[in-house]
Amino acid sequence: MSVYEVGLRLRGKTVLVVGGGSIAGRRVPRLLAAGARVRLVAPEATTTLTDYAAAGELRWERREWRSGDGDDAWFVLAATDDPAVNAAVAAEAEAARTWCVRADDAEASDAWTLAQTAFDGVSVAVSASGDPRRAASIRDAIGAALHAGDLDAPRTRTAPRAGVALVGAGPGDADLITLRGLELLRRAEVVVSDRLAPQELLDMLGDDVEIVDAAKLPYGRHTTQEQINAVMVERALEGKFVVRLKGGDGFVFGRGAEELDACVEAGVPVEVVPGLSSSIAGPAAAGIPVTERGVVHDFTVATGHVPPGPQSKVNWEALGAGNGTVVLLMAVKNRGAIAEALIAGGRSPDAAVRIVENATTKNQTVRECVLSDLGVTEAHHPAVIVIGDVAARARTLPRTDRDR
Ligand code: SAH
Repeated sequence: MSVYEVGLRLRGKTVLVVGGGSIAGRRVPRLLAAGARVRLVAPEATTTLTDYAAAGELRWERREWRSGDGDDAWFVLAATDDPAVNAAVAAEAEAARTWCVRADDAEASDAWTLAQTAFDGVSVAVSASGDPRRAASIRDAIGAALHAGDLDAPRTRTAPRAGVALVGAGPGDADLITLRGLELLRRAEVVVSDRLAPQELLDMLGDDVEIVDAAKLPYGRHTTQEQINAVMVERALEGKFVVRLKGGDGFVFGRGAEELDACVEAGVPVEVVPGLSSSIAGPAAAGIPVTERGVVHDFTVATGHVPPGPQSKVNWEALGAGNGTVVLLMAVKNRGAIAEALIAGGRSPDAAVRIVENATTKNQTVRECVLSDLGVTEAHHPAVIVIGDVAARARTLPRTDRDR
């Protein structure tokens, strides 16, 4: 069975979806993303579909399909669990010369949904003579190759636009950057990088990409941050696309605000791509959820860069008085003084502590102690320190095939 592949441009066009189960649930988001006006006819619908309807993103007619429903549709998806209904929907579409996908019976279906993936402006659709599993595995292989950068071609139409993207690279493991972050990194002509951003992400860049190591900038009369801002803005004004790659999330103790301001002030287009912050991902990687239903209902992320005292903007006493989770970043040096301040504020000296070093990397180490011993317990940068009941309840994660 061979098909003729086309790309439907559905913007503003009505698409009839009959049936509100898991197949419709999987297809509808992409129809909506393509700009289709989705009309859903189904007596029941999945929560996701119900939410779309409630948000006004699709029109849901809560009833059985009836003849005539597809009259204004350009494209029909018959996805009920009743083959007779699907057949009737398909037959009516055929009579009206409207393409219809029957989800239950590929053989009887005039149109097929192909296994699809998209990355960085490229979309790939695969069909494999009616073998959906084979199509899906080939799609997965192509998708993985596109993501890994093993499969790429220079773009002809859309040169990267000049500007800056402030990209959070995630906590350490190169796989934990977001899809958007990776996509922009691949387009970068200049990358201004941080010490804590995963090195593997830089290794995959082409030789023509200029990598500016922020740690090695000459300070001169200016601070490093001013130098970083200047480099980013200069290159963008030269017409380059610059990615500022930072560990974790750039807006969590990452001076992202200053970088954003510098771009805005210089009139440089800027996109902010959030990253997975070590403040949450670090504990998670050590089996510690920062909140737990019925145990802890709040968590605070504080920097320990400045020790407790008049210089610090953190109300350590209030944190000590509370019973939520306290997550400390940049606190290795001042951990003893911070522990004392928390205890002075009312936190139990026996409060559980976990120190997660090099979180999510192959060098991840977790140490444990109680709050009163934090100052004398070994700890090395970079570390996330987690204090509170959730730390005592740290889970041991059973090994997975990701462990090496
Ligand atoms: N913007 C970053 C934090 C920058 S401050 C984020 O959102 O994660 C730098 C501090 O982050 C380090 O001192 C350390 O406390 C923490 N940190 C960053 N990466 C880490 C990692 N892989 N393991 C443990 N702590 C980490």
